[in-house]
Amino acid sequence: MTRRPALLLAATFALASTARAQKGVGALDAEIQRRVEAVTAKVVTWRRDIHEHPELSGEEVRTSRLVAEHLRALGLDVRTEVGGHGVVGLLRGGKPGPVVALRADMDALPVEEQVDLPFKSRVKATFLGAPVGVMHACGHDNHVAILMGTAEVLAGMKAMLPGTVKFVFQPAEEYSPTGVGGAESMLRDGAFENPRVDAVFGLHVFPASHGAIITRPGPWLAAANDATIIIKGKQTHGAQPWNGVDAVLVGAQVVTALQAVVSRQVDITRVPAIVTVGAFQAGVRSNIIPDSAVLRLSIRTFDAAMKEDIFARIRRTAEGVAAASGATVSVTFDPGVPATVNHPALTRRMWPTLQRAAGASGVIESELVTASEDFSFFMEKAPGLFIGLGVNPKGSDPRTAAPNHSPFFFADEGALPNGVRAMSMLAVDYLLGGK
Ligand SMILES: [Zn+2]
Ligand SMILES: [Zn+2]
Repeated sequence: MTRRPALLLAATFALASTARAQKGVGALDAEIQRRVEAVTAKVVTWRRDIHEHPELSGEEVRTSRLVAEHLRALGLDVRTEVGGHGVVGLLRGGKPGPVVALRADMDALPVEEQVDLPFKSRVKATFLGAPVGVMHACGHDNHVAILMGTAEVLAGMKAMLPGTVKFVFQPAEEYSPTGVGGAESMLRDGAFENPRVDAVFGLHVFPASHGAIITRPGPWLAAANDATIIIKGKQTHGAQPWNGVDAVLVGAQVVTALQAVVSRQVDITRVPAIVTVGAFQAGVRSNIIPDSAVLRLSIRTFDAAMKEDIFARIRRTAEGVAAASGATVSVTFDPGVPATVNHPALTRRMWPTLQRAAGASGVIESELVTASEDFSFFMEKAPGLFIGLGVNPKGSDPRTAAPNHSPFFFADEGALPNGVRAMSMLAVDYLLGGK
């Protein structure tokens, strides 16, 4: 990811902040800062413990127990096993006001850790029948520790909070054994009801400048959808192709024709889109022309209407190409994950908060990112803002850092206090500012 500073944007947003939000901000920030400093050693300890004991998606038993015990010790109302191993903690402030949700995802990846740490993961498991190492290669260990720390900071300030903070610890972000992801499962299980959530904030660590906060208004991360195209031809001898319908050739023509959807048929001046054919399966040997071919696609979009349009064009292209050769085709799209779209007004409103939280490390306006995150499901239920936290070691070059999901992914703990501060300040400022 390349990024540029958002000086202009920041200036515009600062003007928009309300006098009310500014009132007493210095004293409040100082109190948050004091509480962040007090909890930092614990955050680091939790993070190391969770890092050393990663759990695959849908298996977050130990992690969720750790979370629930901590939230209960803080005096929160805690619901466990929400949409799988999800945990929801409710902190009711001393004064009436809105409800703000803070979310952390808890699951790890089937990746064997290659980083040499004293708390390196040595956990082994089975994933889709294959033996795998398990690692927090997407950094969700940091998210859990940061949100546990935030809960401790805010619980200590409970009396002055005008409203309610809902802590949402989510399972199964990376992969869903049930076919329904963790965010959706938690929502179906009422995570955003009783009380209903008015705004939601989430944080993700990235290999970006140490302690920096990274985000952008509007679309940020892409929607991700898979499609499956099954081409039905007619099997024949490889030496007598005229007696059949060659599904391999039709499949190849479909792959080629699909390249025109993004490059020729959609307006990509506003937001880009990606159509990738990542798998093409057909045939068993050289002299048999098979009767079917299967293509598997990954589609990334930033706009819901454009997504639907691209789906229709993929279907039309595949059906048209197949018909030209006398083959038939079936095209199916999975429900996928929506785009992560930061609510523009909420982003504008919270931008000065992010600047105060990031301090000298700064707030960086991100480019669009074609990865996806199921935090987007929460954003469909309430205005939301998703932020990134840079966890590169100080002075290192983000361009050479191992990306999320790499066995070399590394998060520098020194950046974690900025995460706790950002989440705490987002919640406090949102509640103080009212709905
Ligand atoms: Zn990930
Ligand atoms: Zn992640």
